[in-house]
Amino acid sequence: MGIEYDYIIAGAGAAGLSLAWQMLHSPLKDKKVLIIDKDLKLQDDKTWCFWHSGEPPFQKLIHKRWSRVEVESAEGYITQSLQRYPYYALKSYDFEKKIIAAIKKNPSFHLLESPIQKLSSDPDSKKAYLHTPENILETSYIFQSCFDPFKIHKSNVRYPLRQHFLGWDIKINTSIFNSDVFTLMDFDHSFTGGVAFTYVLPWTSKTALLEYTIFSENIIAQEKYEEKLSAYLSNRYGLEPDDYQIERKEYGVIPMEDRPALPWYKPRIMNIGTQGGVTKPSTGYTFMRIQNQVKNIVEGLIEDNRPLIYSPSKFRFKAYDLWLLHIIYNSPKEATTIFKQLFQNNKMDEVFCFLNEDSILSEDLQIMSSVPYRPFLKAIWKSKKRLREIGRK
Ligand SMILES: Cc1cc2nc3c(=O)[nH]c(=O)nc-3n(C[C@H](O)[C@H](O)[C@H](O)COP(=O)(O)OP(=O)(O)OC[C@H]3O[C@@H](n4cnc5c(N)ncnc54)[C@H](O)[C@@H]3O)c2cc1C
Repeated sequence: MGIEYDYIIAGAGAAGLSLAWQMLHSPLKDKKVLIIDKDLKLQDDKTWCFWHSGEPPFQKLIHKRWSRVEVESAEGYITQSLQRYPYYALKSYDFEKKIIAAIKKNPSFHLLESPIQKLSSDPDSKKAYLHTPENILETSYIFQSCFDPFKIHKSNVRYPLRQHFLGWDIKINTSIFNSDVFTLMDFDHSFTGGVAFTYVLPWTSKTALLEYTIFSENIIAQEKYEEKLSAYLSNRYGLEPDDYQIERKEYGVIPMEDRPALPWYKPRIMNIGTQGGVTKPSTGYTFMRIQNQVKNIVEGLIEDNRPLIYSPSKFRFKAYDLWLLHIIYNSPKEATTIFKQLFQNNKMDEVFCFLNEDSILSEDLQIMSSVPYRPFLKAIWKSKKRLREIGRK
């Protein structure tokens, strides 16, 4: 066959590069590893945010840290301090630049820019194969973030929700933003086709990234997000189009679905990142879960020469996610009320602890009892069969 590697990382996005970084900082650094992507140009196209207690990953690359958050609650805007879970933003450009440079410095790691046509494997010979237009590359394990495993496994999705958004990085001449406070969710009550809100990351008093975000099944036209952003800047800050320059745009669609995380694409080919189903279904946050997944993989390879399978959620958190998806899908208005009550009745550190799945059962119950219970009763009843299907996977 073709060229042989110990491991192949197919896809050099957040998951593939995080895995490469983790391997470079482990005893696997001397293995022969290929990292392949159809496009290795550095891209300033994603801002990854996450909350974290303790030392954050990629600490030196953190673009901004906030310890105060603003949300729209049932009684209007509230601002709270984040003592346990500060919020961090990291730019994809900085992340890719750092990790690609580190890969290039290591003689046993190789980068290849090429489309991947197909991934195949042979369980008998314990080999996996990556097909490019020029070559077939051979390895013991492929870690892939390129192909949708659900197309193979035909898993159905009951709540096909997506988080879709368009962001503007803007610059203004006067100081308007409070750069110490970011806005997590400022709801748009005029939007009826899903849960919609604006998310504001102020970098300085004169620069910010604003994203108009929707949780819904259907994507809207680009102009619609732009109209919403323009209206928000006018209503909230009194800024008209001549008052700001749009320096960069950021668009994204993230799955918020009730499908189980599938560890294997085919034998010896592991799914990682979004394709590995690690996204938290009810929030769309993925970045920190990717870090946990790649740590597991490296740990397993070191100890047992087999990647450890990462299960992103315990059963009870799968249930909470499923119930919330049911409510968002069937009644976005009720979902908005739930979010607002959640923010009104709990400290944001507690909310982040719960969403991080760090909470204990009594803390979960406290959170659940702080929001309207009727929509949940309906959701529990209506999604019980689906929970049985996905719960134990
Ligand atoms: C704009 C945006 C902002 C986001 N912000 C956040 C956030 O703030 N916090 C958070 O937790 N999550 C966020 N997410 C969700 C998630 O963290 C990101 O989508 C993350 O990039 C997922 O990493 P990944 O490696 O799974 O996929 P990707 O980063 O998309 O990487 C997949 C890679 O595979 C390559 N590829 C695909 N097909 C082929 C092929 N056939 N051949 C060769 N290469 C191929 C692509 O070029 C790409 O580089 C965001 C997502 C987007 C889109």
